[in-house]
Amino acid sequence: MVAIALAGAFGMAPAHSAPAAEQVLNIYSARHYPTDEALYADFSKATGIQIKRVDSDDAGILTRLKAEGAASAADVILLVDAARLWRAEVGGLFLPIKSNKLEAAIPPTLRAKPSDGGGTAWFGLSTRARVVVYDKRKLAAADVDAYEKLAAPELKGKLCIRSGSHPYNLSLFGAMTEHLGPAATEVWLKGLVNNLARSPMGGDTDQIKGVASGECQVAVTNTYYLARLMRSTQADDVATMRHVGVVFPNQNSWGTHVNVAGGAVARYAKNKDNAVKFLEYLASPSAQNHFANGNNEWPVAKGVAFDNPALKAMTGAGFKSELLPISAVGMNQIKVQQMLDRVGMK
Ligand code: FE
Repeated sequence: MVAIALAGAFGMAPAHSAPAAEQVLNIYSARHYPTDEALYADFSKATGIQIKRVDSDDAGILTRLKAEGAASAADVILLVDAARLWRAEVGGLFLPIKSNKLEAAIPPTLRAKPSDGGGTAWFGLSTRARVVVYDKRKLAAADVDAYEKLAAPELKGKLCIRSGSHPYNLSLFGAMTEHLGPAATEVWLKGLVNNLARSPMGGDTDQIKGVASGECQVAVTNTYYLARLMRSTQADDVATMRHVGVVFPNQNSWGTHVNVAGGAVARYAKNKDNAVKFLEYLASPSAQNHFANGNNEWPVAKGVAFDNPALKAMTGAGFKSELLPISAVGMNQIKVQQMLDRVGMK
C-alpha cells in the first residue's frame, strides 16, 4: 500500500495514550517511479518501521533541505543523478556513514569518496545508461555509435536532446570532459548545438518520440525510459518503438556513460539507525532485483539475478560501461554549465 504522509501529519499520536516509541523513517525522495511503492512496503513489513515520504524533484528536495536546516525531518535522501548527489554532498546536506554491508555491496566507483572521518556521504543504489536512439529508416547504428559522432556535420539538423542543463546531461557532459579534456569537450558541445533539430525541450521520452515521428533522426535517452516503452503493450508506445534503434555508444573506446540513482543519510537525521538500515535494505538482493525488474535499472550490487526482457533485448550479452568514478563526473558540472553558456546550449 501507499504510505505517504505529509509533514503536517507528523507527531499526531493520540493524547490519551503513551504508545511505545513508534519506529519511523522520514524519506525525502526524488525517485519518480511508481514501481518503488513495493520497495517501501516491503521494508516496513520486514522491520515494522513506518515510512513517511516527501516526494519532489532533486532540485526541490535540495532547496527544501537547505531551508529546513537542522529542523529538517529528513532521515534518508534519495536522488537520481550523480551531479545532484555531488551538489548535495558539497552542500553539507548528507551525514557520512560507515556501513560494512553497503561497502561490501556497492563498488567504490559508485559511491562518494570517503570523507575525512572515513565515512561515505552517499551510495549509488542503481544505475542507468545514457544511450543513443536513432531512426532505423534513415541512419545506421554505425553512424551514431560513439558520443563524439553526435557532433558530426553529417548529423546537422537531426539531433534531439533535452536541456543541456538537466542533471542527466550535465553528468554525461561531465564524463565527456573526463574523457576528452575540457577544450575538446567544448568543441564537441558546439557541434551538438549545430546539429540540433529543435531547441532542447521535454524529457527523454519526448526525444525518443521525436525520432519516431521523424522530427529528428538521433536522440539521447536514459535506458529506463526506453525500456518502459519497449515493455509497454499500448499501441502508441509499440508504434513509437517500431523504427527506433538503440546504440550503446563507445563500445570500442571508453564505454557507455552510466549514471547512478543513490541514497544518503540526511545531515540532521533524527532516526539515523533506521536510515542506515533502509539504505542497507536498498542494497539487498531483493531490493536490487526490484530496481531491475520494477524500474528497468541495473543493480549496483554484484551477482544480483534479474530477468528484465527489455534490458536483455537492449544489451544482449551485456555492454561495456565507462569506468570513471561517478563522483568525478558530478564534480565537473559547474565547468560544464559554463561551457554550455558559452556555446549557447539551453
Ligand atoms: Fe528520470
